Amino acid sequence: MEQATTLLKKIFGYDSFREGQKDIISRVLDRQDTVGIMPTGGGKSLCYQIPALLFDGLTFIISPLISLMKDQVDALRNEGVSATFINSSLSQEEVRQRLKMAEEGHYKMIYVAPERFESTSFIDWLKTLPIELMAIDEAHCISQWGHDFRPSYRLIKQMLTQLVHKPVILALTATATPQVTADICQLLEIDRHHVVQTGFARDNLFFQVVKGQDQRRFIREYVMKNQAQSGIIYAATRKRVEQLHSFLKDEGVQVGKYHAGLSEEERAQQQEVFLYDNLNVMVATNAFGMGIDKSNVRYVIHYNMPKNIEAYYQEAGRAGRDGQASECILLYSPQDVQIQKFFIDQSDMEPLYKQREYEKLQQMMGYCHTEMCLQTYILDYFGDHQHSQCGHCGNCLDERENVDITKEAQMILSCVKRMNQRFGKSLVAQVLTGSSSQKIKQFRFNTLSTYGLMADYSQKQVGEFIDYLTAEGYLRATTGSYPVLTLTEQGVDVILGQIKVTKKEALRVKQIIVDNA
Ligand code: ADP
Repeated sequence: MEQATTLLKKIFGYDSFREGQKDIISRVLDRQDTVGIMPTGGGKSLCYQIPALLFDGLTFIISPLISLMKDQVDALRNEGVSATFINSSLSQEEVRQRLKMAEEGHYKMIYVAPERFESTSFIDWLKTLPIELMAIDEAHCISQWGHDFRPSYRLIKQMLTQLVHKPVILALTATATPQVTADICQLLEIDRHHVVQTGFARDNLFFQVVKGQDQRRFIREYVMKNQAQSGIIYAATRKRVEQLHSFLKDEGVQVGKYHAGLSEEERAQQQEVFLYDNLNVMVATNAFGMGIDKSNVRYVIHYNMPKNIEAYYQEAGRAGRDGQASECILLYSPQDVQIQKFFIDQSDMEPLYKQREYEKLQQMMGYCHTEMCLQTYILDYFGDHQHSQCGHCGNCLDERENVDITKEAQMILSCVKRMNQRFGKSLVAQVLTGSSSQKIKQFRFNTLSTYGLMADYSQKQVGEFIDYLTAEGYLRATTGSYPVLTLTEQGVDVILGQIKVTKKEALRVKQIIVDNA
């Protein structure tokens, strides 16, 4: 480990290791297969670069990010480290040349895209090399439970079984739920005890959910106020990116756009101007960002809610890689839930995965409706329970008073129970507000004791209560395009009067009385 510390200083110019780096590096040096889970910007690259320099043999780095490979290789070369990459951006001749140089032992590190393993001749070539370390970046891409499954990642396992001398395997990722971690371990045959996970927390990120506001106006005002700062605005579809882009442009904002519908050239150009600070605001679909290593992004705004927390945390996490305070704002609108449901419905996923996607969507909605610390909510999702409230997210800073809503909660929960836990939000809200719709009559819900109990509220308000009770874990919404509400244990305790439910008081517009006397 002493040598590792020397290299850290000599080659990379850092005095000490960051959390997790030392543990991962020493395991790799002990030739232990390891899974390393560290947040974005946590310093995963050094975890394979340092062992690569200390090992006699070769290190391969498997990465899906072709655009990043060149940057990494250039940076290493600047430090005098011999590295190269092999991917589809090269001509056949260039590839041949690099393979030859590798055979002759010119490199310590070689970056490759997983698609390479489709070629049997490439694998035959690998078999001839003294490979000591195989680092797998973005390792969550191997799991179908992850949010970014890539079939080419499945080729890795096959490739590994064909190597005569098994190299040390280091799988790295920033986004892995406990289930995805288990999957990575199983697929790569890594002992579950060999997982090093540092905290997921990014203390410099300030999370906020904005509801019930004119979203475009919010964005315009925010962007105008922060003109000097770099920021990304994510929208769910190309069409929305185009609309928002024209809107901001018409408002006089210098803004770029990025989505898969643009030509490769246009995309590269947009990326470049943003990367080099010649343009501060970028409106994009989620196609933008994988592999964008821009450290001074001060805010990430989501114009639409993403499909799940993993995608959200990864996208929002592109803010503040330099450790400076940055904002991650999600603009919530109930319509977004419909868009995401539509995407899942239309996809050709197997039923089991669809169900899982619905579940994840439900947890994403929970993020939008919860009143707990937003950072805590995200970290809990990733199975990281070792932390306290962040103290600076929208919910931690929400100074509205907590009011007791146990009575309303009991009405709603009892109603769900009396409807035999077989219906969804809108029908429950209809029963509680005493609607006389056809469906109510058909099921004779107007005879229930909870019928019309909340007639003082609108259906929308009751719907919001239900969203809140779901987010806070009193109700569970089953998966599927028409989620059915059921009671959780905690919900039953509320009905039994064993626990109280509180909610932040709705904002009231205070009337200011001006004394003209
Ligand atoms: P990740 O791949 O985990 O997102 P990177 O490996 O790109 O993160 O590292 C993020 C930044 O942190 C880089 O600029 C890197 O040089 C820097 N870094 C990594 N390790 C250290 C360290 N021990 N001390 C200081 N800076 C570090």
